[in-house]
Amino acid sequence: MSIDPCAHCEEMMQPYLDHVLTDAEMAEAERHLADCEPCRRRYRFEESLRVYVRNAAAEQMTPQLREKLSALRIPLE
Ligand SMILES: [Zn+2]
Repeated sequence: MSIDPCAHCEEMMQPYLDHVLTDAEMAEAERHLADCEPCRRRYRFEESLRVYVRNAAAEQMTPQLREKLSALRIPLE
């Protein structure tokens, strides 16, 4: 046994999520995810974590934007 496919999959996880893999590497990662339940779960977790972080960042911007907008005191009518 040479390379652990799951260790290789783990290595590719972040670049896969960043969409910086080549088509061949993407296909390889997808093939592994298709028949490896633990890696698929891990991938879904990593993916949802990114969505969560993105949403958290967006929520942090909202009060700042609101503050800026209210500072401008734009009349609503
Ligand atoms: Zn795996």
